[in-house]
Amino acid sequence: MRLEQELEQLVLMQGVWGWEELLCSALQPWQLWAIAGLLLVPLTLWNMWRNRREDEDEDEDEDEGEGEDEDEGEDEDEGEDEDEDNGANDEGHARNEFEHDRDDNLGRMVLERIQWPVQDLVSGCQWTSHLMKCFAVYFTRVLSDSFYPVLQEAIGVGSAFEGWSPREQDVVYQVLVPMTPPRGHSFHLEPDTAGQRQVRNFRVRVQQECTCGSAQQGKNMLCFLHHPEEELSRNQDPSLLDTLCTDSYLDVHKTNRWFYQLVRAVWPALHQSHNWHLVLLPSRRSCQFKVTNGRESIRIEMLFGVQQGDSDVFVSSEPREAYTSSTIWPESYAVAEIKFFEYIAWQAPSDSLHLECLQFFTRLQLGLGFSTYTIKTIVMHLLNTFPVSQWRRRHFVRRLLDISEGLRTCVEARWLNHFIVGNRRLPEEINLPVEILMASPCNLFHDLEMDPVAHSQAVSQYVDLYWWLKRIINNED
Ligand SMILES: [Zn+2]
Repeated sequence: MRLEQELEQLVLMQGVWGWEELLCSALQPWQLWAIAGLLLVPLTLWNMWRNRREDEDEDEDEDEGEGEDEDEGEDEDEGEDEDEDNGANDEGHARNEFEHDRDDNLGRMVLERIQWPVQDLVSGCQWTSHLMKCFAVYFTRVLSDSFYPVLQEAIGVGSAFEGWSPREQDVVYQVLVPMTPPRGHSFHLEPDTAGQRQVRNFRVRVQQECTCGSAQQGKNMLCFLHHPEEELSRNQDPSLLDTLCTDSYLDVHKTNRWFYQLVRAVWPALHQSHNWHLVLLPSRRSCQFKVTNGRESIRIEMLFGVQQGDSDVFVSSEPREAYTSSTIWPESYAVAEIKFFEYIAWQAPSDSLHLECLQFFTRLQLGLGFSTYTIKTIVMHLLNTFPVSQWRRRHFVRRLLDISEGLRTCVEARWLNHFIVGNRRLPEEINLPVEILMASPCNLFHDLEMDPVAHSQAVSQYVDLYWWLKRIINNED
């Protein structure tokens, strides 16, 4: 009922700003036309959409245009522009300035209306990074003669390090600790094809390598392959195969327990332990803990993983399904994603509001059913499409509507492309393995494609989300 009422208020809108190409490239042309026909925009916002065209044409000139997508409404706009050129230049200029001011005012009012969380993510990230460096010093010392994985410098990942957070409290500072094989061992990533098609899973096979005659021999290391077992067990720490592996494969649960032991053992040696109290939190696939000092509390999650070659893609302990077997390491794009956000931050003007857009939407959808990752994916696609200069205050409301529109297009199409897998339009600073770069598009809305009930639920969740968005923009209480 509500959906129907909502639809009654909508009018047909032409032009789809290339969303199909961006997100639905796997669709057939007839499907695209069907979606274009479904694109509807409320009457009250009609003017805003039209102005959006004119404004961005102008911004393109400023930014030497990244090529705004073609709009079927353009002919009409061009006609208007010509009229202006034929004698009303000043008037047109004044009108544009008026519209800039109006959009800027609207942006300011909406920004003021939104309750922003009080968080100092930057200092939380710095504190976490410093703690990780302190841990690393002791980890290296403790592990120097062992055959446990070698721990590399932790990489801050996830929303907090990207500069936004879907939660008011309980921000989780996530880090990924890359692991490399210890002496006399090698890691081999083997794809696991048994799982769902939508999730790329791997196993990490651990192999012993001959160290006879190598420099390590001088450090009294015995070769695991060529020294008698008796001598090895008497004189040398056990091989990684005998500690953290199950059937020659690195075991996430065993590795995780080992991480907890390390953190617990090293903590008292750190200077942070004088003022902060460590509380380990239970988890099977990541090492989670909280440190508190009476006033503040910081929650940290240490994930661990193995890098794929020299790329920004890892296999990590983070589960992507409800149940993940202990020798399964799902592929993780967290490092590639944070590099994308760093790339955008480096390019964007200092008053860019792209993170506010993301923050606002992820909080708006809380409890409505869309995942935070869905919203983040849509925003990343948009950031990769619009010039970075078009996320300022005067674009704020239009970008919010774009995110909403993107979500709707994808829900209608039952298709949302993964931002990393198979995306050949990423900045070249992001280093992807060839298989990921050349992979066919991966649909994050696979469930909606397969399940009509899930799809109608998503449509109704979208209507709810849009209703909330409209209330906030129009200041309806
Ligand atoms: Zn050997």
